[in-house]
Amino acid sequence: MTHQPTVAGVPVSGEHWIGGRRVGGTGRFTDVSPIDETPVAEISRGTAADVDAAVEAARTAFASWSRTSREERASLLHAIADGVEKRLEDLAIVETTDNGALLRSHRRGVMPRVAHNFRFFANWLVDELDHPDFDTRGHRNHVSWDPAGVCALVTPWNAPLMLATWKIAPALAAGNTVVLKPAEWTPLTASLFADIAAEAGLPDGVFNVVQGYGAEAGAALVAHPGVRRISFTGSVPTARTIAAAAAPNLVPTSFELGGKSPLVVFADADLDLAVDLAVEQYDNAGQVCLAAVRLLVEESVVDEFRARFLARAAKLRQGDPRDETTDLGPQVHRRQHEKIDGFVRRAVEAGAEPLLGGGPNTELGGLYYRPTLLAGAAEGSEILTEEVFGPVLTLQTFRDEEDAVRLANSTRFGLAATLVTGDESRAERVSSRLVAGTVWVNCFFVRDLRAPFGGSRESGIGREGGTWSFDFYCDVKNSVFAPREGN
Ligand code: NAD
Repeated sequence: MTHQPTVAGVPVSGEHWIGGRRVGGTGRFTDVSPIDETPVAEISRGTAADVDAAVEAARTAFASWSRTSREERASLLHAIADGVEKRLEDLAIVETTDNGALLRSHRRGVMPRVAHNFRFFANWLVDELDHPDFDTRGHRNHVSWDPAGVCALVTPWNAPLMLATWKIAPALAAGNTVVLKPAEWTPLTASLFADIAAEAGLPDGVFNVVQGYGAEAGAALVAHPGVRRISFTGSVPTARTIAAAAAPNLVPTSFELGGKSPLVVFADADLDLAVDLAVEQYDNAGQVCLAAVRLLVEESVVDEFRARFLARAAKLRQGDPRDETTDLGPQVHRRQHEKIDGFVRRAVEAGAEPLLGGGPNTELGGLYYRPTLLAGAAEGSEILTEEVFGPVLTLQTFRDEEDAVRLANSTRFGLAATLVTGDESRAERVSSRLVAGTVWVNCFFVRDLRAPFGGSRESGIGREGGTWSFDFYCDVKNSVFAPREGN
């Protein structure tokens, strides 16, 4: 018998989950905790053969799962949400150990939202997913959302289970079956989730997990001819590779990608609010796709903004993410830590000035990187245009509204934008000119699953949320019924 690893007393598995059972596969790699870089578990290194087995299991299960009623599927999704709530503490500590994000956020924000993802799509399926029939010269048009088939879901490490369940919940609600390939740096909650779904009564093969590296398990999955949808959250270069792999099979893809979002502070803003929103961008050690990392501040208030920002940021506590008082944990992995430091070093060499941080936290060591603010970077330079995905913000100034819009839109991305202004008509005017999937005015990270979520330009293709998710995960069909004779 193989030794079952535990995380803070919670048994975890690094094996695949295929057709309702654990499958070890052949190779293994070691999963390391970013908190102290100690090994956590041995993870199965998925191969094309493992992917074949998972897609086959999903294809077999599709035959009956796709014919269940909306009510049956909704009730199973609610049972899964119950299971997530019951094991919330286990999921929270395992996720924190695996990716280093704050335990208090996992307990109070992230894991409750995982459960909510299932309840939301269950309720939407039963109560909202509808298009009224309509008439064409006496013929009745009826729109239906038919299950599409096996969905390949490929997900990143920064909010592993949360981001995976944005996809799993609507895919299952729609009557599809799923093969999930979680990120190799954070494989464990996907595996725990498989247990929860099975305990909730999800039939074998409806949900499968293949662990492993992107270039191996991930690449085999997205190129598999048995897959009918590919939903991916991750980086732009990987999205390009996946788009190419999907092309021969003409499989629809949904991409949620990177960003370089602006936080635009006008002189008429409540500056304390602006500073609070700016400091919030260090959440999850800056590893948030939506983070408004480019602080664009109107010239006339930049001195005051800078002073208040530095005073507020000085209060951030960096340390062990399991400690309830910690604000900033470690980066997820040594490679990510080094990548961030490379960006900061090159920016400083090119003339940027660190107003805060600017390097690893040498007192804490390990993977802890100081919250950093860089000023004076040249327009168009790497640090102002490329996604760092770490606790690194930049400060720039603008002259007027026109200049603010120009700078805000000056990257290849278009995921989100945040405006801070006391002038409502300015807020409407500017937000209508921004290239972004989401604009927040005097707030940040307010998310409602009824709303479309996604990115413009290189930040993504497609939208998730409410009916948008079902439109993607279904073959939407229109049936036209001729008038009955005698009518
Ligand atoms: P990544 O692209 O390196 O990896 C994401 C996933 O893709 C992983 O599971 C990986 O194993 C897999 N993968 C890698 N190569 C593959 C291939 N050739 N074929 C198939 N799968 C492959 O991204 P990451 O570093 O894990 O995540 C960070 C990125 O994700 C950032 O760019 C961030 O902005 C983005 N992100 C976007 C959103 C959003 O909603 N827009 C949310 C979170 C993260």
